[in-house]
Amino acid sequence: MTYRLAAVGGDGIGPEVTAAALEVLAAVGERGGPRFTVEEYPWGAEYHLRHGRPMPQDALDRLLGADAVLLGAVGDPRVPDHILVGGIVIRIRQAFDLYVNLRPVRLLPGVPSPLSGATPERVDMLVVRENSEGEYVDLGGRLRQGTPDEEALQTACFTRRGVERIARYAFELARARGRTLVSVTKSNALRHSMAFWDEVVQDVAGDFPDVRWESMLADAAALHMVRSPERFGVVLASNLFGDILSDLGAALAGGMGVAAGANLDPTHRRPSMFEPIHGSAPDIAGRGVANPVAAISCLALLLDHLGERPWAEAVEQAVATVLREGAVRTPDLGGRAGTTEVTREIVAALAATAGTRP
Ligand code: NAD
Ligand code: MN
Repeated sequence: MTYRLAAVGGDGIGPEVTAAALEVLAAVGERGGPRFTVEEYPWGAEYHLRHGRPMPQDALDRLLGADAVLLGAVGDPRVPDHILVGGIVIRIRQAFDLYVNLRPVRLLPGVPSPLSGATPERVDMLVVRENSEGEYVDLGGRLRQGTPDEEALQTACFTRRGVERIARYAFELARARGRTLVSVTKSNALRHSMAFWDEVVQDVAGDFPDVRWESMLADAAALHMVRSPERFGVVLASNLFGDILSDLGAALAGGMGVAAGANLDPTHRRPSMFEPIHGSAPDIAGRGVANPVAAISCLALLLDHLGERPWAEAVEQAVATVLREGAVRTPDLGGRAGTTEVTREIVAALAATAGTRP
């Protein structure tokens, strides 16, 4: 079986960490795992400056031919963010209806956390963020711009179908993992949208009597994630709350350099897109010091989604081994190694464990 992968490196450190991930993916194939033909697309800031658009007109059609999309990061000081992030990342998420944004928050042994008392047992959760509607629908406007009476309106939109499908996905995950689900709400203040969210989640919960769950206000959730992260197994959240809480989670688990993410179409009708949570990090771009762990960990999510669970685990284990040993790590984790060295080390760890794979 050969899969087709579309790789969009993007800007800044995006192409650096994507190249690292592709090296590890090639190593998976060489060790007897699934093989991928990779189509690389040079879209992003440079493309925009040359062609007046961040990706070509037929970009989505081209991606549709792939089994999965691997994205580095986009963002460049020369181009407004909404053109690149909006024109590439959000465009793909919406066009392909990738309604699940899955962000594992897992503190791996040996990784420093800013939270004293944080241990791998205590920090291990999956943030399931609604990725298609809610607070991030593009609905609103500006009135009387530039006058003292200026107004801005931004409206959230929650649909029964939208909330129900993300809740169902999260409950299934909680069931499979045997973990507690926390549904993040704010129905004490957002009496329409979040009260509706609570009702739909409650309805879905009825189909999962075996799953322990609780509803938690978003502000309290921020507090409890720091004070007692072990309370969270699966975090079900709307687009905005999930965005914020997953960055908080990323910080607890070692920072942007290690945080992976996936934009999933659980129905497998469209290719899902895998991308680290971090951006293009212009402050360190081109210096060869970007941490490739986030992008490489995306491969585990990608392989898992394609049904290649043992190989997803092999990648996870290789990353965990290198982080636990701690000799080779990038400056964001307190080390002195570069992107290439860390990648080479992970490939070597993969080779060492891959012999035991089925
Ligand atoms: P950022 O994630 O790029 O950087 C934040 C900080 O984390 C920086 O200090 C950076 O050096 C560090 N960092 C990030 N990734 C790292 C890695 N792999 N290894 C080591 N250190 C790492 O966020 P930002 O600075 O707010 O944004 C920069 C650009 O990226 C902006 O244009 C923004 O819009 C864009 N962005 C894009 C995406 C995306 O493509 N999905 C996501 C977030 C931000
Ligand atoms: Mn974000």
